[in-house]
Amino acid sequence: MDEPRTLTVDGVALTLVVERKRVKNLNARLRGSTISLSVPYHATRSEIDAAIPDLARTLLRRARARQINGEEDALALARRVAARFPQPPEVHGVAFVTTQRSQWGSYSPSSRTIRLNAVLRPMPRWVLEAVVAHELAHAFHLDHSEAFRTLLQRVCPGTDRADAFLAGVSWLAGNWERLHPVERALLHRSGEEPD
Ligand SMILES: [Zn+2]
Repeated sequence: MDEPRTLTVDGVALTLVVERKRVKNLNARLRGSTISLSVPYHATRSEIDAAIPDLARTLLRRARARQINGEEDALALARRVAARFPQPPEVHGVAFVTTQRSQWGSYSPSSRTIRLNAVLRPMPRWVLEAVVAHELAHAFHLDHSEAFRTLLQRVCPGTDRADAFLAGVSWLAGNWERLHPVERALLHRSGEEPD
């Protein structure tokens, strides 16, 4: 067994234990914050090193998605929002996913499932409600036409405010590294706005 190593993925510190075994491919398992990697005898160190970041990220995000999907209240929230529609769409499940980068959410009318970007999970409820309302409204209008906007305003009057909130989140995420530490510190305000 090689010396355990530490690595940081998505800002999370992990311990990596590499073990050579009679396996065909790399196999990885995440337990707590330890990744156990079984590698074939013929694999070179550089092959292993090249594979590790993606492997670790996949495992970590999958584990994170499982954690946040353990809660039932997102489904209750989604059903509450659905009930506001003139013809309420059915919602059978809500899943927070860590594989969507460019989308806040989606709704599949065939599986009646809502997928939400995991980034939304800790955000205020009214923001989640607005994203759910937006995605459910697409079950009736595929585009962002006038009819879509009218329906959305009707079931979720706070939709413009939520859009602005999310635009601010995206802006900050994209510019965080460019901010001077003093400016970052200015953003940590106590007395957050209530939900
Ligand atoms: Zn849309």
